Amino acid sequence: MFPKIKSSKKNIYLDYAATTPLDGRVKKAMAPFWSGKFGNPSSLYKQGREAKEAIEDARLRIAEIIGARPSEIIFTAGGTESVNLAIRGVAKSSSHIITTAIEHHSVLRTCEALQQQGLKVTYAPVDSDGFASINEIKKAVRPETILISVMYANNEIGTIEPIAQIGKWLKNLNAERARQNLPRIIFHIDACQAAGSLDLNVDRLGVDLMSVNGSKIYGPKQTGFLYKRGGVKINPLIYGGGQERDLRSGTENVPGVVGLAEALDIANSTRVKQSVSLVMLRDYFIKELFKKIPKIILNGSQQVRLANNINISIPGVEGEALMLYLDSYNISVSTGSACATSSTDPSHVLLAIGRSKQDASSSIRFTLGKATTKKDLSYVLKVLPGVVGELRQLKITP
Ligand SMILES: *Cc1c(COP(=O)(O)O)cnc(C)c1O
Repeated sequence: MFPKIKSSKKNIYLDYAATTPLDGRVKKAMAPFWSGKFGNPSSLYKQGREAKEAIEDARLRIAEIIGARPSEIIFTAGGTESVNLAIRGVAKSSSHIITTAIEHHSVLRTCEALQQQGLKVTYAPVDSDGFASINEIKKAVRPETILISVMYANNEIGTIEPIAQIGKWLKNLNAERARQNLPRIIFHIDACQAAGSLDLNVDRLGVDLMSVNGSKIYGPKQTGFLYKRGGVKINPLIYGGGQERDLRSGTENVPGVVGLAEALDIANSTRVKQSVSLVMLRDYFIKELFKKIPKIILNGSQQVRLANNINISIPGVEGEALMLYLDSYNISVSTGSACATSSTDPSHVLLAIGRSKQDASSSIRFTLGKATTKKDLSYVLKVLPGVVGELRQLKITP
C-alpha cells in the first residue's frame, strides 16, 4: 500500500536546477520594455536610444559583477546558444578540443557534431565524485589543441569543478606554448548551474569564455550571455544586422536582457546568505534520507557540491517511477537531467562517475531554491520512505 498521506495542496517544487520561476523584481524591471519602451535599439530616434541605453546599462551591470569590460559581454538566447557560440565559434577544422565526460548536452552534442566535421575531441574522465582532474586534461593536450571546455558545476550531481586551478595551470601552459609557437589554448566554462551561487569573477577563475543563462537564476528563459575575453577571436553562429559586435545578429531581446541583468544582480548580492541557508536545508535533507531509507547512495561530492543539489540512487527503485509517484503527491523532482527525461538511457554523468546502469537508472535529483522550506522537505521525508518501500516490494527494478 502506498502511504495514505494526502497529496500536498501546495506544489513542492524541488527542481530548481531545471529552471526557476521569475523573481518579482525581475518581472518589474522588465515591465517597461514590453510595450512602453519597445523601440529597436538600432534606431537612432528617442525610442531606439532608450532601448539601446537599457541594453548598455544591463551590459555594464553584468560586466561589473563578473569583473569584465562591457565590450566582453555578448547577449544570447540562453545557455545552449552561449555554449554553441563558444565552442563552434572557436573551432577550426583539424583542431583539437578537450572537454569532460560529464558535460551538459549543449557541450557534448556540439562536440559530437564537430567530430562529424573532422575535429578531434577528447572527453576527459572524472573521478568517482565527478571531479575533473588537471592530470587527465594535461595528458590529453596536443600541439593542435585550441580549446578546453569544463563545466563550473554539474547540473545532475552538483559537483563543483576546480576551475580556478585549471585556469592557473593553463596560464602557465600557454606561456610555455607561446615560447614554442603553438596556438594558445582558450578556456571556456559552462557556468549555467553556477551563476546563482558561485563566484563569477573571470580573472579569479582564469577563463576566456564563460556561458551563463537567465532561466536558472530566477531570470527570463531564453536569455543568457557569453563572456569573451578581449582579444579572443571567435566566429558568429548567426549573421545579419551586426548586433553584439557582429557576434550575435538579430534585434535584441530588450526586456530579456534587462531581466537577465536584474536577475544576476540579485543572485550576486544574495548568494552568500542564500547559500548558507540552502546548505543547511540540503544537509538536513541528506541526513534524514540516509536515516529513513536503507541502502541509498549519494551521487557527487559530499563537500564540494552546489548548495541546493541532492542526488541519490535508490537501488531497487526505478527513478522514473519514483518521480511519477512523487508527482501524484504534488512533489516535483527530476531523474538525472531534465534535458534527458525524454530518453530512458541512464545518465552519462552517473555512468562516468562509476555507477552501474542499475544504480544510474535508480537516481533521483532534488534541487532546492529560494521558496523551499524545511516544512516542504519534511513532507517529502514523510512520503518518500513509504513510496520507496512499496516500489521496492513491487520489484519493478530498472
Ligand atoms: C541549463 C543548462 C544549460 C542550457 O541552458 P539553456 O538556457 O536551457 O539553453 C547548459 N549547461 C548547463 C550546465 C545547464 O544546466
